[in-house]
Amino acid sequence: MKTIAENYDGVLFAYGASRDKKLGIPGEDLHGVVSARAFVGWYNGLPEYENLNPDLQSGDTAVIIGQGNVALDVARILLAPLDVLRQTDISEQAIEALSKSRVTDVKVIGRRGPLQAPYTIKELRELLHMPGVGFAAPPEGWEDLIGVNRKQLPRQLKRISELLEKGSKTPMEQAQKAWQLGFLRSPVEFLSSDGKDLNAVGFERTEYVAEPASVLPKDDGPALSGPPAAMNALRDLRVRSTGSKAKVDASLAFRSVGYQSEALAGFDDLGIPFDQKLGIIPNDMHGRVISPDRGPIAGLSAAHVPGMYCAGWVKRGPTGVIASTMDDAFHSADIIMKDWEDNVRFNEIGDGETRGGWDAVKKEVEQRGIRSVSWADWEKIDAVERKRGQEKGKVREKVRGVAEMLKILDG
Ligand code: NAP
Repeated sequence: MKTIAENYDGVLFAYGASRDKKLGIPGEDLHGVVSARAFVGWYNGLPEYENLNPDLQSGDTAVIIGQGNVALDVARILLAPLDVLRQTDISEQAIEALSKSRVTDVKVIGRRGPLQAPYTIKELRELLHMPGVGFAAPPEGWEDLIGVNRKQLPRQLKRISELLEKGSKTPMEQAQKAWQLGFLRSPVEFLSSDGKDLNAVGFERTEYVAEPASVLPKDDGPALSGPPAAMNALRDLRVRSTGSKAKVDASLAFRSVGYQSEALAGFDDLGIPFDQKLGIIPNDMHGRVISPDRGPIAGLSAAHVPGMYCAGWVKRGPTGVIASTMDDAFHSADIIMKDWEDNVRFNEIGDGETRGGWDAVKKEVEQRGIRSVSWADWEKIDAVERKRGQEKGKVREKVRGVAEMLKILDG
């Protein structure tokens, strides 16, 4: 890390979130409990998850805990017809395993309600329109679960409620596979009869801390121009446990409760702090890395670590879709430009005289006997993947392991 910092005027950290959050409940390590992040890595052909071998054959029901877009991604892969999947760049290994899958029933379960779940309209619609896949309405009924007259809902939430109530394009009677959203259930344990394999997921039922309709601001305007206050009030509505238990039998469960960034080795040497609780590099919201060790300066309790910037999930936490993360990266890049033009102090690591850039870093890496992979190398692997994909009528066929990637480069 020091070598990188010494050789540049500035460093921007945009390395995202490399860990998934754990639930911290009994049974989380049972066979059959799978991290959604690992599963996504596996079907996308990430070398790290090549040997995941998710057990798709022990039962027909899969439970997904959490209701974000990653949960919907996992549900989509479990439910999608094979001919739909074959047109994507999903790995052959995953297609092979999914073709033998017995899973026909997917339950995506959240601890809050339909208007609090973080899924987005586009991803919900995609799943509801999936050919041959039915959507079962929750037993409580939408009206009770939503708890607000649809006319009073802000536009975005109104669209979500309409979409959910309309259900799937394929009627349940005609569906080969089906999914369901379960609400107001917080996971408390993973159960097993033999101490090895998952048999069921135990939940505690929850309830809203306040009636949803009661949290709407009093002077609410017409629904079409629904003020963000109503949206935020409903989105932020919390739940509490009722103490009543519920159990869902399943041999497969995915933990999909969000991601977390980690500090990089070497941060301490560079004076870069890391907020373990929020899982972010502390910053001024524009992407300038700030440290309390640098304050108080001009009344600030923390100030900019010269030359250090961040963007994306490691700056704001793991939220937002690709477009919002891109906007955030553009903003951080603009801030670097602005600081440069304003003659703000940049990196102070090293002597400041010789900033050798990539050439110097590469040299150092080679001296240490570490193999580097260049952009041109990446392009070579990319070309092979595309060619292999073309032969199979798909966008690309990913190279599975690092050893094979290096073989392509050396061959
Ligand atoms: P997420 O959107 O933050 O959703 C996390 C889910 O886990 C929520 O339902 C949350 O419930 C629940 N949860 C968290 N802690 C829990 C606990 N202890 N017990 C029970 N439930 C818990 O996370 P994500 O799905 O991993 O997605 C991460 C980001 O990637 C999101 O911004 C997402 O939109 C984005 N993404 C986008 C796409 C796309 O654009 N197509 C695809 C994949 C991911 P609460 O709300 O109650 O906390």
